[in-house]
Amino acid sequence: MERRVRENRVGWLGGVVIDTDDGRMVFDPAATRSMERDAHIFISHAHSDHTLGFQSNVMKYSTKETKRIFEKLREKTVRNWRPVEYGQKVRMGDTEITTLNAGHMLGSAQFQVLTHDHTYVYTGDLNCISTLTTDAADVPECDTLIIEATYGDPSFIFPRRERTYARIVNWALHEVKDGRMPTFHVYSSGKSQEIVRLFNVYTKLPVVCASVVGRANEVYNEAGVDLSFVEAETTEGKRLLRKGGCVYVTTTGSNSTVPSHASEAMATGWAVRFGSGSYASFPLSSHAGFDQLMKYVAKTGAKRVYVFTGYSELISRHLRRELKIEADPLPLFSQRSILEF
Ligand SMILES: [Zn+2]
Repeated sequence: MERRVRENRVGWLGGVVIDTDDGRMVFDPAATRSMERDAHIFISHAHSDHTLGFQSNVMKYSTKETKRIFEKLREKTVRNWRPVEYGQKVRMGDTEITTLNAGHMLGSAQFQVLTHDHTYVYTGDLNCISTLTTDAADVPECDTLIIEATYGDPSFIFPRRERTYARIVNWALHEVKDGRMPTFHVYSSGKSQEIVRLFNVYTKLPVVCASVVGRANEVYNEAGVDLSFVEAETTEGKRLLRKGGCVYVTTTGSNSTVPSHASEAMATGWAVRFGSGSYASFPLSSHAGFDQLMKYVAKTGAKRVYVFTGYSELISRHLRRELKIEADPLPLFSQRSILEF
């Protein structure tokens, strides 16, 4: 009997696509063309380059923390959405999708897709080291791995996190002692909350946060992370920002709101290789460094790896050479299907 079979296929089509016999799954769509009505959309975390899917009418899945942070930061309500939790499975026909911790920020997820004959993992943004606000990423087994490589270059090996934490705290205490106000320009969600928690745990300095950071902080507090901060627009926040003796956490590119006694800093993995001009810079990354990525891939047991973002070409070469795994940058999705008799 003739039987038409859709090949399981992987590729980039304005988002990471996995096509199975049970339908199309799109992970972190970045363009509307990938969001067809019968697709199922999975959103890995709340950073803005991953959340376009929340604005579509197609059925979407994410952790509740990811949706909450998106809604708080964008002041929008997401509709047609289903929550997923770490360890929980969602079924689509015979295909099973398991949500796992990605260690990148609160609620960040990897997705493991189990079909009748193949297991895929899509990592989203990934961090394999535990931080003050997140646990290290899970390491799921798979046949085919689709992994990010923001820092997939051997020069991006980050110092131990405790050492970076100590450097940040020492720098800030020194600035305060000299009458300056340590001011961090970081993403409003993820890195900001790690910085707030760092000063909460290791110092008695009050931490003032820009309102957008404060909104993300609230979701972390709802999730039990326990952040103590003062919102910049409150009377107390304004007083502290005038007087100093505090830490200020604000977003990247918000120079206009910074007081003249601010001493500014960046906390990013890029600090390993690039300076930040007049800013102090600290190599605090929410992504895995090169060594962590290589270890993670080896542990998954993947036989086939597709790499997206960053140094995909370079790390693919290392994976082929050092781990003897088939590895390439994620190809563009092809619409071809096969006929089986
Ligand atoms: Zn991210």
